[in-house]
Amino acid sequence: MNAEAQQMENNNTHAFETDVSRLLDIVANALYSNRDVFLRELISNAADACDRLRYDTIQNKELKSDDSDFEIHISIDRDKQTLTIRDNGIGMDKDDLIQNLGTIARSGTAAILENLKQQGNDGDMSLIGQFGVGFYASFMVADTVDVISKKAGSDKAYKWSSDGRTGYSIDDTSKDETGTEITLHLKTDAMDYSIDDKIKQIVQTYSDHIDIPVFLDTAEQNAEEPLNAASALWTRPKNDITEEQYKEFYHHIAQTFDEPLLTAHWKAEGVIEYTGLLFIPTMRPFDLYDPQRAHALRLYVKKVFISDKVDNLVYPWLRFIRGIVDTQDLPLNISREMLQNNPVVAKMRKGITKKILSELYSLSNKDNDTFETFWHQFGAVLKEGLYDAAEHRDDIFKVCRFATTEGNKLTSLADYVTRMKDGQDEIYYLSGEDAKSLKRSPQLEGFTARGLEVILMTDTIDEFWLQMVTEFDGKKFRSVTKGQVDLNQFDSDDKKDDGNKDEEKTSSESADKFAHYLKEQLGDDISYVRISKRLTNSPVCLIAEDGSVDMHMEKVLKIQQQYDPTIKKVLEINKDHSLIKKMIDQYETSESNIDLQDAARLLLDQALIIQGETIPDPSEFARRMASFMEKGL
Ligand code: ADP
Ligand code: MG
Repeated sequence: MNAEAQQMENNNTHAFETDVSRLLDIVANALYSNRDVFLRELISNAADACDRLRYDTIQNKELKSDDSDFEIHISIDRDKQTLTIRDNGIGMDKDDLIQNLGTIARSGTAAILENLKQQGNDGDMSLIGQFGVGFYASFMVADTVDVISKKAGSDKAYKWSSDGRTGYSIDDTSKDETGTEITLHLKTDAMDYSIDDKIKQIVQTYSDHIDIPVFLDTAEQNAEEPLNAASALWTRPKNDITEEQYKEFYHHIAQTFDEPLLTAHWKAEGVIEYTGLLFIPTMRPFDLYDPQRAHALRLYVKKVFISDKVDNLVYPWLRFIRGIVDTQDLPLNISREMLQNNPVVAKMRKGITKKILSELYSLSNKDNDTFETFWHQFGAVLKEGLYDAAEHRDDIFKVCRFATTEGNKLTSLADYVTRMKDGQDEIYYLSGEDAKSLKRSPQLEGFTARGLEVILMTDTIDEFWLQMVTEFDGKKFRSVTKGQVDLNQFDSDDKKDDGNKDEEKTSSESADKFAHYLKEQLGDDISYVRISKRLTNSPVCLIAEDGSVDMHMEKVLKIQQQYDPTIKKVLEINKDHSLIKKMIDQYETSESNIDLQDAARLLLDQALIIQGETIPDPSEFARRMASFMEKGL
């Protein structure tokens, strides 16, 4: 701590963390057009605070001494040019104030927001709530913010105050009611927030679905009617809810501001009863791959918010779902620990999974474009379920899509199966990083020449489920870069003119001898050399042996440093390729084989390069290459 900061601490004055200062700087310079969101954020915090106290009083009745209802009150003081938002929720003590309003919970948040700003979302603060920093949005409209708060169960109150620049002060104060009162001293250019109609309009747009009533009071008296509907949205009949209301509710609970791609609102009635209101986002949440991500499904029991951290309520591979589940079948005072292994929770998870998968399936049938948007955002995550949840596997497969060698459209496995050739009893696939470069793989040539469609698996996760899931619809998955495939049973398109080419074909005997020679030259770098049945245009390719890991999997394992390098690959050669033919010729006729030895090495290096592998000795490769080029020129 530097001297200045030390000095500040002594006067009940605290310096902001560097990250907070950076953030406030962005906030203060935000565009006018979306400044309204500050109110949505403050109301959302006030409602959360009420939810939390409601939950805590189930365990400890004494926390809420009066039996008044939970309420949020907004008031305007035109003389002082202030706007005040007051709740009777859980409140904050001194530590809470320091922790919650002086730091940023998630490190790196300021950097993300700065990034967004640079990406052309210049000053667009509508996303702010998503990052757990909604409170700071107050500084878009206020030059000073005062927070007076008294925590439930405590009789001390504190006043936090800041100009949103360098730091804040905290002082003792007094307050009758438990809860928090936030006063914004409006900037001169933000005076429209002291107009009743403006506030009404913002609350109705953004906060109508909040189930705590929000009142706009006058200086003289409290309002009688709340501005919002103030009933839990999911308890209302579906037909009474507009798309707009669903959307606002989604924005509130998911803390995100895209459109929901899919909305599922249903009541399950059976052994257990619950209501689900779930959404699939259009945009991938920024923390999809962050194990500590927040805002999972929210669990309610009889309309009381219990927790949004019940892991078992959703499978990890459906972690992009947002929304709420409300059940009658759990006791209100259930502890969060008890929830982890609760059979009711497990049953709801099953129901939720089934519902979401069936909704996705019907979406795929009626609106393929939207479905594909979903697939591009979340497909890779969903596929984790193929090995994680065998009981849902069939339903997951129904909504899985894959690129293939035929055309640029994605296909389902079921559709692929209907296109399989007569006699084809396996599902061919090739895995690697991206479809475009995969399509050029030499291992595909024999398949393409015979019109056999090959699925291109381009997500890392594919390698993992393919280890566990060996077949679909009774047909085995077969990697085209692995083991021996016999494609001779399928008609090749150029087989028809085989007649006039026959004379040029290399005899198997010569080819076998040459293969033997190649293996001698390449020694332990490969397991053996085989005459290829899958190549048509390229001279060579590498293949993984049956029973070993597929080649792309090997790469994945290497990255994770779990790879056993003693497993060698098979080098397949195309005996009818002109280069191989020349080499065989030379091998059979020439005495000195110095060049041939170099050529053998180059063949292997070439196969490695096509595979996207590094070659073992680049300088030797360059030397051989140069020497051949010299001769060629
Ligand atoms: P988030 O709501 O995503 O956590 P915010 O910046 O909006 O982020 O709020 C930060 C924290 O400050 C909240 O998590 C909460 O702990 C606390 N807080 C804000 N407003 C209130 C309030 N009215 N009552 C109690 N706590 C509050
Ligand atoms: Mg908030």
